[in-house]
Amino acid sequence: MLKKLLPDLHVDSIYDIDLEALKKRGVKGIITDLDNTLIEWDRPLATPKLAEWLKKVQEEGFKLMIVSNNNSARVAAFSEPLGLPFIPGARKPFHKAFKEAQKRMNLQPHEVVVIGDQLFTDVLGGNRLDLYTILVVPVAQSDGFLTRFNRRLERIALHFMRKRGMITWED
Ligand SMILES: [Mg+2]
Repeated sequence: MLKKLLPDLHVDSIYDIDLEALKKRGVKGIITDLDNTLIEWDRPLATPKLAEWLKKVQEEGFKLMIVSNNNSARVAAFSEPLGLPFIPGARKPFHKAFKEAQKRMNLQPHEVVVIGDQLFTDVLGGNRLDLYTILVVPVAQSDGFLTRFNRRLERIALHFMRKRGMITWED
């Protein structure tokens, strides 16, 4: 169980992800979380910096899909101005939305990475399907109501993983 909570890669932010390295791994598609991964959970629209990064990712040849547990109003309002495909109400860590995203991108599991800020939704969900998972530090210190509960479980899981020497990154 704990192993399934461990990301393949841990970075400070999406901007620190080495796109060239992903290409070398054969990655062709990115499933990304929205809230506190791309932008603050309470910010409705992409910042210019984020919009530029998302454009660059696509220009580099990656397919992009936003898979979020948030509702369709929130996810659509963010994604549509950017012309990005999205799946709201994803119920991560259940695998249905990840599978659907993978199918819509027409890619094999080893060609897809999952980016997110939460162990119990993004990382666990991606790992259960054997997708390569990248954990980012949450963009904002605060969280929505439901996420706050997950964060408490996350702290407990991190504590156990650290004690077992499973964690290689610094806080
Ligand atoms: Mg999130």
